[in-house]
Amino acid sequence: MNIHEYQAKDLLRAYGAPVAEGRLAETAEEAARAAKELTTDVLVVKAQIHAGGRGKGGGIKLVKSLEELHAEADRILGKPLITPQTGPKGRLVRRVYIVEDTSIVRELYLSLLVDRASGRVAFVASTEGGVDIEKVAAETPEKILAVDVDPATGMSPFYGRMIAAALRLEGDLGKQCGKLVASLYKLFIEKDASLIEINPLVVTKDGRLVCLDAKMAFDDNAMFRHPDVAELRDIHEEDPAEVEASKHDLSYVKLDGNIGCMVNGAGLAMATMDIIKLYGGEPANFLDVGGGATKERVTEAFKIILSDPHVQGVLVNIFGGIMRCDTIAEGIIAAAREVKLAVPLVVRLEGTNVERGKKLLQDSGLAIIPADDLDDAAKKIVAAVKDAA
Ligand code: GDP
Ligand code: MN
Repeated sequence: MNIHEYQAKDLLRAYGAPVAEGRLAETAEEAARAAKELTTDVLVVKAQIHAGGRGKGGGIKLVKSLEELHAEADRILGKPLITPQTGPKGRLVRRVYIVEDTSIVRELYLSLLVDRASGRVAFVASTEGGVDIEKVAAETPEKILAVDVDPATGMSPFYGRMIAAALRLEGDLGKQCGKLVASLYKLFIEKDASLIEINPLVVTKDGRLVCLDAKMAFDDNAMFRHPDVAELRDIHEEDPAEVEASKHDLSYVKLDGNIGCMVNGAGLAMATMDIIKLYGGEPANFLDVGGGATKERVTEAFKIILSDPHVQGVLVNIFGGIMRCDTIAEGIIAAAREVKLAVPLVVRLEGTNVERGKKLLQDSGLAIIPADDLDDAAKKIVAAVKDAA
């Protein structure tokens, strides 16, 4: 789960990390009112969307008067903002964050993430802040320090010193860096974060270290123990079909193709997508109905797959292990009737009660194309979609 910059900064503040004062506004009038509570002459208007590259897209503006602030807030709010990370349609800006300006001397990069290779929490630091870290990694990898935190010892001042050295922060700035590193680590661990990215972390004219931007992501599976963080979810920033799927405990990820997939088990779902591609098709989604899916969940899954207007055919590939094939067949039949299925449907069932399941499908009177194995199923759905088109 991702959160907005203003929310991430509230968390940073709560953990003692240095961030500029700011106010949230939903209208230009609110922005102008909020500005009166802030103390610098120059303010920054920042569009709040779950995507970076806002600076490049025109979503970050320095303003020097209330008139200018009103005009910029008015220009940004209520419209889609297109950045290198949003895709061509952009993201609707519902809120702007008005912050006190920070006089920047240097822009640095500092993040915390889960390093999958080592299975540890790692810091990534670079003197090249304010730009794409992927670009720095590709072109000048020597400018990036990545360091895993040893879980046996946890945080130690040693990490702070190492990162300060990599960022060339000396004296008092080095001390500030040590404090920040410890705060970020504490926040990361206590809140079950999966990413904290400060880009840029800046050195100011008056010798302070300030987190100018903040991106945070959290482990969805840990949100039950962090209601305060779970509350920060903004479903406007998520795909509506994915939101609907999560309500029914379905793992659904929308993709760009035209063959809808309903599969149980993430591994089987990945294999199904691969084999569709092998036969020249493009999956429209990843969908794992889970091991213990009920008839109701299969119906919901069907509705979600078909809510995507690009879907021109559906492949159901289920292994009835915990769940019996006849139960799945009942779900498929009920769903196909309820949603008045109008695209080709290929079903491959295997496992417990498979014969009973196949018979139910056959007797249903629905135009279901049966398949014997995964290979056969993928070939059949790719062919059926081609024929229909
Ligand atoms: P992003 O483009 O979505 O990553 O948004 P950022 O918050 O990182 O802002 C992009 C760039 O705008 C930063 O790298 C800074 O150069 C600049 N910027 C952002 N906030 C401020 C600010 O408070 N004061 C000044 N002077 N520049 C800012
Ligand atoms: Mn940034």
